[in-house]
Amino acid sequence: MSISTEMNDEIAIKFDVNEKNPSTKEILKEKGQREVFCGLTGIVWLHRKIQDAFFLVVGSRTCAHLIQSAAGVMIFAEPRFATAIIDDKDLAGLADANEELDRVVSQLLSRRPDIKLLFLVGSCPSEVIKLDLSNAAERLCKKYLPKVKVLNYSGSGIETTFTQGEDACLKSLVPEMPKTFPHSPKRLLVVGTLGDIIEDQFSRLFKKIGIEDFDFFPPRISSKLPKIGSNTVFILAQPFLAETAIELEKAGAKHIASMFPFGVQGSYDWFLSAANEFEISEEKVKTELQPYMDRAKHAVNKSAKFLKGKSVFFFPDSQLEIPLARFLNGELGMKLLEVGTPYIHRKHVEKELSKIPASTQISEGQNVESQIDRCLENNPDLIVCGLGLANPFESKGFTTKWSIELVFSPIHGFDQAGDLAELFSRPFDRKEKIQELNPQPELVGGV
Ligand code: SF4
Repeated sequence: MSISTEMNDEIAIKFDVNEKNPSTKEILKEKGQREVFCGLTGIVWLHRKIQDAFFLVVGSRTCAHLIQSAAGVMIFAEPRFATAIIDDKDLAGLADANEELDRVVSQLLSRRPDIKLLFLVGSCPSEVIKLDLSNAAERLCKKYLPKVKVLNYSGSGIETTFTQGEDACLKSLVPEMPKTFPHSPKRLLVVGTLGDIIEDQFSRLFKKIGIEDFDFFPPRISSKLPKIGSNTVFILAQPFLAETAIELEKAGAKHIASMFPFGVQGSYDWFLSAANEFEISEEKVKTELQPYMDRAKHAVNKSAKFLKGKSVFFFPDSQLEIPLARFLNGELGMKLLEVGTPYIHRKHVEKELSKIPASTQISEGQNVESQIDRCLENNPDLIVCGLGLANPFESKGFTTKWSIELVFSPIHGFDQAGDLAELFSRPFDRKEKIQELNPQPELVGGV
């Protein structure tokens, strides 16, 4: 489901991207109606990653439809998520929602003994009736521990956008991580959900460059949560984990500043930044990674030939926008018109921002109407946006890329750099093929 939330009238606050560089264009900060998925969407990839966890959304039929259609569940499968429907009786305060919830959880756990970690996921309806899910989780934990651990977080559209669901989920897991001993050796923690295949590739590369002690968070099995303490250094694999990062720092871990592992430059910087922390020389990192970089550059260049010079406009969606824009500009030669993103966590994207050309308009938050106007005025060759905006733009003759695909596809690292580039060239191929089959006058611009 795509949510359209009326907030305040537009407030455009401007401030410098980089105060030391006055030539840098100011960030446009907007508030208003936004077009973005809610945080429940994260369940789609989180339930695949943590294989013994179950996500129980405490929500409405709308919430159930959202995750079922987004995850494309087969009806005969035993999925690892469900929705406890809050119906009219609960909303009217005629039923004790806590009793109902306990009953649903008891039914679920007796039917599914494989569940070791149960997340109660808050939604707009559970917020509206002020159902205290942290109390519920505590109560249920007492009842089912040690067999099942019960945690809670919110994926509500009132509180979260799209990828913030993962941030909220991982944040809730941090206090459960076992503590390291004070003098144990330094260990790297890679933070953010990655496909298993990417984790395996990254594990091989860490070992090649000389990092032997590392863990991924979240883990594939909930009982194997990595240890954390003052000897933990962590590197983010995703740019949308601000709250999780704060929680990890509170637990004593140190953040490694780096670019994100998208494209050749981002991936190289990511591995190098991790290696620096372990006092591994740049020469060693370069020697080991060179063959991977060469292969990735070759794959990226195939799309670069086609995309070079084309302009792109990003609507805010997943918080991946700034690193992806850096990749499109730096490695594919695309011209950045506007890069919209829901939130900017400066500390995490500082290195990325420094690579974005000063002429680019960066915007944070959204007022969708005025952003559509700016987009039409700019007349970009490619628009990266959510599903709700893509079809109307296509019908006006524009070429679009669905931003949701960038979250669901494996795009991290050297081996995926060519595929990532291709994700942006494919919409042009598709358009060309459609036009060959059905030649029509172009409607681009001025609509
Ligand atoms: Fe819609 Fe809110 Fe449920 Fe998300 S949490 S599907 S925005 S009702």
